[in-house]
Amino acid sequence: MERKLVSIQEVTSVAPIVGADHIAAARVMGWTVVIKKGELSPGDRCVFFEIDSVLPEGPAWAEFLRPRGFRVRTIKLRGVLSQGLALPVSILGDVGDAERAELPVGTDVRERLGVTKFEPVLPDSREQAGAFPSQVPKTDEIRLQSALGVLGELAGRDFFVTTKLDGSSATYFRGGDGLVACSRNWALRRGPNAVWRAAERYRLEERLPEGFAVQGELCGPGLQKNRLGLPALDLFVFSVYDARRGVFLGHADFVAFCAEHELRSVPIERVVSGEEARGFSHTLERWLEAARGDYPGTANRKEGIVVRPLEESVSQVLGGRLSFKVINNDFLLKDED
Ligand code: AMP
Ligand code: MN
Repeated sequence: MERKLVSIQEVTSVAPIVGADHIAAARVMGWTVVIKKGELSPGDRCVFFEIDSVLPEGPAWAEFLRPRGFRVRTIKLRGVLSQGLALPVSILGDVGDAERAELPVGTDVRERLGVTKFEPVLPDSREQAGAFPSQVPKTDEIRLQSALGVLGELAGRDFFVTTKLDGSSATYFRGGDGLVACSRNWALRRGPNAVWRAAERYRLEERLPEGFAVQGELCGPGLQKNRLGLPALDLFVFSVYDARRGVFLGHADFVAFCAEHELRSVPIERVVSGEEARGFSHTLERWLEAARGDYPGTANRKEGIVVRPLEESVSQVLGGRLSFKVINNDFLLKDED
């Protein structure tokens, strides 16, 4: 669930940066972001742009990002990791008191500012067969730093960690009218595309039970950078959805489903349960550390991890499934396209 790309947020603290006269390090939600010194103070509201925001071409406040194609990305400034962009609410223009009161923390201002999200994979419209099936949720994961409250929700629960693979999202749904095979947002025409090739390889038309959807990451040659170094296309399942009941399978059922249907899951790095889960201290720092490292058997940095409770749970913070991603900051700085 990608929440708000651009929203009103509070600056929780501002710290000086050693040796820097014009910039400072602000804290917004779980993010550290470099700001212009003096522009924002602790307690101020700001407009916060998450990484991968693409600013509109036109407004003066967006001009400084023109050399970078207007895209907000992870950068290091004077040794400080800066993730996102925090600007004063004055960029919203002259808003009256009434309107200002309607801009509480959390207000989504992406549309009114004309911000779009950077999309690495351009959809090929020739391949679209139709809409994504409405019975199945699309794949997405929130970044931990944008929803720190999920850590409190996970505390005390059994949970598991999977490796985040950097390929392309696929959803297969067996409705009443046969198999629907989708990329992240569209049902695709049957053809030589990767989504359908994986469906054939795993004989999903025969194997997928009616009413079920499997969602996974397609990886292999030609997909992103093939950081797993695979010799051929493969599908790594990360979710199984029972559309008749409207639920995702919990960890045990998910693992059993993959085994029964001879599907491969994303790598499960850890399962933490019982006493260890009860005593586990969920901090942002700890999770950022856990997200680092390489894909096994390669010298390629991994993109990160995805964390979920063993039993599917509804998150109040997210307004949906409790699940989040932690992106490897080394990957963001050095590898991301
Ligand atoms: P992002 O790639 O940043 O848009 O993050 C969300 C996407 O990660 C999902 O839509 C999936 O396609 C993908 N993904 C890769 N590995 C996993 C995993 N282990 N668990 C869940 N999603 C994953
Ligand atoms: Mn991705």
